[in-house]
Amino acid sequence: MTQSTTQTSSEENPEVPLSPGLYIVATPIGNLGDITMRSVDVLSRCDGVACEDTRVTGKLLKHLGIGKPLWRYNDHSEERDRARLVQTMLDRAVVLVSDAGTPLISDPGYRLVQDAREAGVPVTSLPGPCAAVVGLTLSGLPNDKFLFAGFLPSKEQARVRALEEVASVDATLVFYETGPRLAKSLQAIGTTLPGRTVSVARELTKMFEECRTDTPNSLIRHYTESPPKGEIVLMIGPPARHVASEVEVDTLLREALQSDKASQAAGKVAKATGLDRKTLYARAMALRSE
Ligand code: SAM
Repeated sequence: MTQSTTQTSSEENPEVPLSPGLYIVATPIGNLGDITMRSVDVLSRCDGVACEDTRVTGKLLKHLGIGKPLWRYNDHSEERDRARLVQTMLDRAVVLVSDAGTPLISDPGYRLVQDAREAGVPVTSLPGPCAAVVGLTLSGLPNDKFLFAGFLPSKEQARVRALEEVASVDATLVFYETGPRLAKSLQAIGTTLPGRTVSVARELTKMFEECRTDTPNSLIRHYTESPPKGEIVLMIGPPARHVASEVEVDTLLREALQSDKASQAAGKVAKATGLDRKTLYARAMALRSE
């Protein structure tokens, strides 16, 4: 088992150099004002910064008036580059940042942290912006339980399979998304998880920030008229837990029966409502023979 330290004593005293180790620093996802004072302090006093793209991080450091050696790193970096970086952390303070947001969250860093911990390097994580959390807090969807699932696959079948896998999870589902793929994802959500409320949070913390929470069909209509630009967090509300009325159940079953067999229709409506699949199957058969 590996153990990480909590805040180091040198971090508490701005007069002394930072203790050697790995410092994970979250950076702004749009609004440059969203960097914390502690992050600026650690960036100012570290020995070097491991980053995805030296141009992107160079711009941020320039904005903060900080000059530091920048070392390009991502999880596909060669084993020996990672080993060298971990070796450096044994006697120097190394910051890890990604292009934007919290490193490791759909961003590089996992292998580096794992190797650093195994090598006994003290690891400190400085909290800050994360698009998934900003989107979740804006959406109005339940947030007592949520599942962050990264990016949906780009291929259609894999996307539907990924949605089916999480369909019965009783929590808000949070995905990262891109503008060009949004319509297809909304379409897949509408058919795979019928009856769910969906939220699209776009350009968070930036000038054209927006967050729309609606049915997949309404969102598809809106974004067909105004194609979405920029970065997106896509969220799906949990399955309805209220006891759906007979009329609601019949509507959902009739909709599903337009494209599916009775057993598939029953499965979909069971996922959407939490109702018993066998009872729904019997009702679907009855509706089909009406
Ligand atoms: N590590 C980052 C974080 O903590 O949010 C996420 C990095 S991931 C490679 C980039 C994705 O995050 C984008 O494609 C988008 O889905 C989401 N994202 C990043 N910034 C965003 C923003 N300002 N508004 C909405 N989504 C954003």
